[in-house]
Amino acid sequence: MKGSGLSIERPTVAVVGAGAMGSLFGGLLAEGGLAVTLVDVWQDHIDAIQANGLCMVGFGGDRTIALTATSEPDTVGQVDAVFVQCKATQTSDAIRRAEALFGPHTVAISFQNGLGNEEVIADIVGSERVLGGLTLQGASIEGPGIVRNYANVQSFIGEMAGGISERARALSRSLSVHGLPVTASANIRLEIWRKLMINVAVSPTSAIADLPIARVIATPEMRAAIDLALCEAAAVATAEGIEIDFAECRSSVSALADKTGANKSSVCVDLLNKRRSEIDVINGAIVRLGRKHGIETPVNTAWVGAIKALESKFA
Ligand code: NAD
Repeated sequence: MKGSGLSIERPTVAVVGAGAMGSLFGGLLAEGGLAVTLVDVWQDHIDAIQANGLCMVGFGGDRTIALTATSEPDTVGQVDAVFVQCKATQTSDAIRRAEALFGPHTVAISFQNGLGNEEVIADIVGSERVLGGLTLQGASIEGPGIVRNYANVQSFIGEMAGGISERARALSRSLSVHGLPVTASANIRLEIWRKLMINVAVSPTSAIADLPIARVIATPEMRAAIDLALCEAAAVATAEGIEIDFAECRSSVSALADKTGANKSSVCVDLLNKRRSEIDVINGAIVRLGRKHGIETPVNTAWVGAIKALESKFA
C-alpha cells in the first residue's frame, strides 16, 4: 500500500487499535471500497479477520466484510490516513509501533474519547500530521472478528488550530462517500469538549456506583454532584478558551438516559474487566488543566481518586 502524497479521493487507511470502534470504522470504509488495514496487538482477533473476514452485526444488518488485518504495522507501508482507535492509555505505545505507516503527507486522526490524545500523537509524528476527531458512534466487540454496530451517526474531523482546511474538507467528503459519515468542523476542539463534558458526568459515576448510566443520572444526590463536576469543567473550558454552553451540557446528560442509559460507562466496563480506564484523559484532564489555571476542581479530583483506588485493586 503506497501513499506518496495524500490521496484525497481514495485515501488508503490504517486503523491503529482495531477493537470495537476501529473495527467498525475500518469495516464500514472497506465495505465502501477503500483500502483499509486493521492494526492490532490482539492476535486472535487479527487471525479471525484474516481467516473469515470481519463479521459486522446489528445496525445495517449482519454481514461479513473482507479486509486486511495485521499485528505487524511495519509490513503495511505508508498510508494516507491513520485512524487512532486504541484506548487512550495505549496511544503512545501504539503510535510508536506504527511509525512506519507515516509518510510526509499522512494524517493521523484520533477518534478516541477524552482530552490530550492529539498532543500525544503529535509528540511522536509532528503536529502538522494530526487532525482532531470525534465520534458519536458506538460499537462493541462480541468476540474475535465480530463487531456490533449500534447506529449510523456523525463523526467530525478538523484542524486543532481551528478553521476548515482543504485536507479536512476533502477527507471528510471522501470518508463519507465511502461509508463513514464524517463532517469537517471549523471548531473541533469545541466538539471534543462537548463530548468530554458528557464523559466527565457519567464515566466515573457509573463506575463508582457500578450502575447503568440512567440509574446514576436518576439518583438526585449523584445528579447534584454531576452538576458540580460540570461547573468545574465548564470553568476550566472557559480558561482554555472554549465556550461551553452549560445548559446545553446539562440537557445532553439528561438525554443520555434515553439514548444509552441502559449501558454502564466504558470506565465502568474497563474496571469490571480489570483494565486501566481512560479516567486520566477525562476527569483527570479537568484536574490537570484546573491546576494549570488555578481553578479548584474538588469533585473531579475526588472522582479521579476513587477510580484510581479501584484500579489499584488489580494493578
Ligand atoms: P477496544 O478496547 O474495543 O479497542 C481497543 C483496541 O486497541 C483493542 O483491540 C486492543 O487490542 C488495541 N490495542 C491495544 N494496544 C495496542 C497497540 N499498542 N497497538 C495496536 N492496537 C492496540 O476500545 P473501543 O471501545 O474501540 O474504544 C477505542 C476508543 O474509542 C476509546 O478512546 C474510547 O473511549 C473511544 N470510543 C468508544 C466508543 C464505543 O462505543 N466503544 C464510542 C466512542 C468512542
